[in-house]
Order: sequence, then structure tokens, then C-alpha cells
Amino acid sequence: MAAAELSLRDPYTVPTNHWHHLDDGRVQCDVCPRACKLREGQRGLCFVRGRVDDQVVLASYGRSSGFCVDPIEKKPLNHFLPGSAVLSFGTAGCNLACRFCQNWDISKSRETDTLSQTASPQAIAAQAEQLGCRSVAFTYNDPVIFMEYAMDVADACRERGIRAVAVSAGYMNPAPRAEFYRHMDAANIDLKSFTDAFYQKVTFAKLSAVLDTLEFLARSPVWFEITTLLIPGHNDSDTEIAAECEWLITHLGPDVPLHFTAFHPDFKMRDVPPTPPATLTRARRIALDAGLRYVYTGNVHDRDGQTTTCTGCGAAVIVRDWFLLETYALDDDGRCQRCHTRTPGRFDGPAGSWGPRRLPIQLAGRGVH
Ligand code: SF4
Repeated sequence: MAAAELSLRDPYTVPTNHWHHLDDGRVQCDVCPRACKLREGQRGLCFVRGRVDDQVVLASYGRSSGFCVDPIEKKPLNHFLPGSAVLSFGTAGCNLACRFCQNWDISKSRETDTLSQTASPQAIAAQAEQLGCRSVAFTYNDPVIFMEYAMDVADACRERGIRAVAVSAGYMNPAPRAEFYRHMDAANIDLKSFTDAFYQKVTFAKLSAVLDTLEFLARSPVWFEITTLLIPGHNDSDTEIAAECEWLITHLGPDVPLHFTAFHPDFKMRDVPPTPPATLTRARRIALDAGLRYVYTGNVHDRDGQTTTCTGCGAAVIVRDWFLLETYALDDDGRCQRCHTRTPGRFDGPAGSWGPRRLPIQLAGRGVH
């Protein structure tokens, strides 16, 4: 795609590191396995990275599609500072091309209007602190593609004691992945299915690269949870769910939280019905029977499927009603108040009291650098 507007004179366009020259004169972006090969003025599949002045640049540094304060459970993260508020934002574009995208107005945007808000990393960190947010989340679209901006925001937040959360499909090459996650405290990774055929046909990506990211995270200090959106007839068979759970237990262990969430018809998959709640319950049962200890359902009202159970004594230590914590029976370190068994995750003090609120925020006019 031609992109005449790409220019390093644009204040929102910055140089990047992960790319190299090819013998045929093109430049290859090395951030993700797409390996976009670019001639001067071309943009990659993600649209926000492109080639100008013989190098790969990021053209959305300091620009956002909007800011919102959410409960951390909405990311979803159930074992990371429960009940706390998180300042969420995204940019535009994506490095996957999922036919079922549930945020396609942002991820597939080619309109600069989508990036209507601007904010420097310092302004975002200051706003997060002022609003009482314990973390900031890169979400709505995949932070892999705007990693330079996300890492600077994460650093500015960490200086104020605010943590950084990546919500990602995990489709990233090893070197940029290692750099990116040095700046992150937590992540939720979408594992979109457990077959190569689905990844290739429905997301135009490769399963193996996502599994590599999950194994990388398991070796890192980053807290992470996994989400699988169940799409009727496409990735919701007993066999596939069981295979996914077996892999997770074998490669990541039984303590990684897994969220099964409900699909709604959207983008290029409007002919598929919404996920019945019974499908989520069935998937959760398969995962628990396989030995995963923390399995949740999402996008539906399901008290059992949103409860965290102590593995020591069986007590319901966190009971959620959507994003509201109704019961919280862990101490400040995440230990059961009854039997002192520790629930894995990141717990630091009492539970937050943000509740289910969603608060849109305007940060426009805060500068960029
Ligand atoms: S980050 Fe964007 S430009 Fe780079 S390889 Fe991936 S899709 Fe292509």
C-alpha cells in the first residue's frame, strides 16, 4: 500500500530497530513473523510501521484511539492486583488479520481520525496516577506493532510505581519479544485456537509462534494469563479444547489461568452464531478435568465460572459478579485467609474497589515527546 504521508518530520513518526536490508533492495521488518518486505513508502500489514528514508519507522508514536479506566478483570486478568483500576488504551492497526476480530474498527483502521488523542508517556503515567490506576494496559489493538511507544509508556509508569500490562496475540519474533517484555509486568495472551489450520485460514498467522511466546513468558518474571475465544464450529470441539489444555499443563504448568470467552458475530464472521453459555461451561469442565487449576468463563454471566477457588482448602477466595468482587478472602500476599495456601499471581495489598465501572478519559493536547 502506498503511504505518501510517511515522514520522519511528522512528530508521531519515530525510527525503529528491528529490521534489516535485503539483497533485492527491500527492507524487512523483523518485529513479527509476518516479515513484511518493504520498498520506500510502503507500509506493513499492520499499517502503522512502514519504510521511509530507507528505514522502518513507527508512525503512531504518541497517538491513541482513546483512553478508558476499566477494572483489571476486564483485560481479563483475574490474578493480577484484583479489583484495581487500569488505564487502558490502544492505537490503530494490527499484525493479525482475524476474520472474527471483535475490535475491527480499531485494528483494521486506515483512518488517522481513529488516532484522535495524543499523549506523551509522561502524560499517560501522570494521568494514571491521578486517577488511582495501579496499572496501564495496552489493549484494543496489539501493542506488538507499537512496541516503542508502549515500552516508553511502561517505563514512565514504572517510575511512578504503576505497572504495565500487554494484551496481545503473542505473534512476535524472539529478539523484539525479549526487549518488549523486559518493560512489562503482566500480559494476557490470546490463544485463538489449537490448530494450525485455524490460525492459517482465520487469522492468517502461525500457531507455533504464539506457543513460543507462551513458553517464553513461562520462563520470564511477567505474570500472564491466557484467553481463548470460542467460536461455534471453528475451535470449540472437545478434542481441540482437550489438546490445548494438555499442552498448557505440559509446557506451562497447571497454575496458568485460562479464560474461555464468548464470541459475538462481527467483522467478516457475521454468519456464525454467538457462543452458547453451555459451550463455555463445557470447555471449563474439560480444562478442570485435565488438571488446570484456574479456569474462567468470560463475556457471560456465570458465577461459578468467574470464581477463584483455593487449591488448599477449596474455599471460594474470590467470587466475582461480572467485574465486581463480591467476596475476597485472600491476604495482602494472595494467601487464603483460611488455610494460608498461596494463589499464584501478583497480589500486593488489599483488593481494589474500582468495581465494574468503565470511565472514558480525554487526554488530548498533552504533547507527544
Ligand atoms: S510488525 Fe507490522 S510491519 Fe512489522 S512484520 Fe509485523 S505486520 Fe509487518
